[in-house]
Amino acid sequence: MAEIAIRSIVKTFTDRTRGREITALDTVSLNIGDHDFVCLLGPSGCGKSTLLNMIAGFEAPSSGRIEVGGTLVEKPGADRGVVFQQPTLMPWLTVADNVAFHLKLKGVGRTERRARAQHFIDLVGLTGFEGHYPSELSGGMNQRVGIARALLMNPRVILMDEPFAALDAQTKLEMQEELVAIWQRIRCTIVFVTHSVDEALVLGNRIAVMTRRPGRIRDYFDFDMPRP
Ligand code: ADP
Ligand code: ADP
Repeated sequence: MAEIAIRSIVKTFTDRTRGREITALDTVSLNIGDHDFVCLLGPSGCGKSTLLNMIAGFEAPSSGRIEVGGTLVEKPGADRGVVFQQPTLMPWLTVADNVAFHLKLKGVGRTERRARAQHFIDLVGLTGFEGHYPSELSGGMNQRVGIARALLMNPRVILMDEPFAALDAQTKLEMQEELVAIWQRIRCTIVFVTHSVDEALVLGNRIAVMTRRPGRIRDYFDFDMPRP
């Protein structure tokens, strides 16, 4: 069974300025296996973010269905961690408290919060920066905090929308390598949106190429990646 089953997704938006319907996604179907790291690759405007937002449960499809782990997606859930281009950290909280934020919301006690946050802080290479504030860290380090926060609830799936697009070239290379290493270590399923062929080629084990408009899946490429 597919970890993520995307079944005949159609998504239309109303373009109010022109008073007409835009078909953003035109009957997109895709099976993503457990522990796959799939890049959704396509030009700007092809519907990548729209599709990712529907897997996340932020938006509903016009028709079709998406299942994660056999459960119909109807709203956001702890089984799906999300990372955007801008990590949306809370500036008044430290690294440790940003990472542990969801645990605090759930009323998990401080000792357990710290221990669980620390595990993921170490995993993303931020050991020693627990007490720092986002404004004291580089863009790459802030994005590491965002990744640690997304991993915190042990989600089945990590959804990433151009997470490294705002980083300088060197930092981007490092983060790409580290993300592959994290994926191999924790065995999660990753869906990664990018418009960069270069990026898609160094990440993961599968590329799903989308057409410009309306957005459709045009091709799949599967790669052998070293697996844990
Ligand atoms: P990508 O992520 O590949 O750049 P998007 O998913 O952002 O593409 O957008 C796909 C298409 O849907 C574009 O034509 C975009 O303008 C349109 N679109 C996305 N969100 C909305 C919205 N909320 N309202 C109207 N049109 C939208
Ligand atoms: P709260 O009172 O909100 O529960 P804590 O007592 O957990 O906060 O944390 C106190 C301060 O220490 C916070 O600023 C927090 O970010 C920071 N902190 C939490 N965990 C660590 C850690 N492992 N190393 C260093 N500082 C930490």
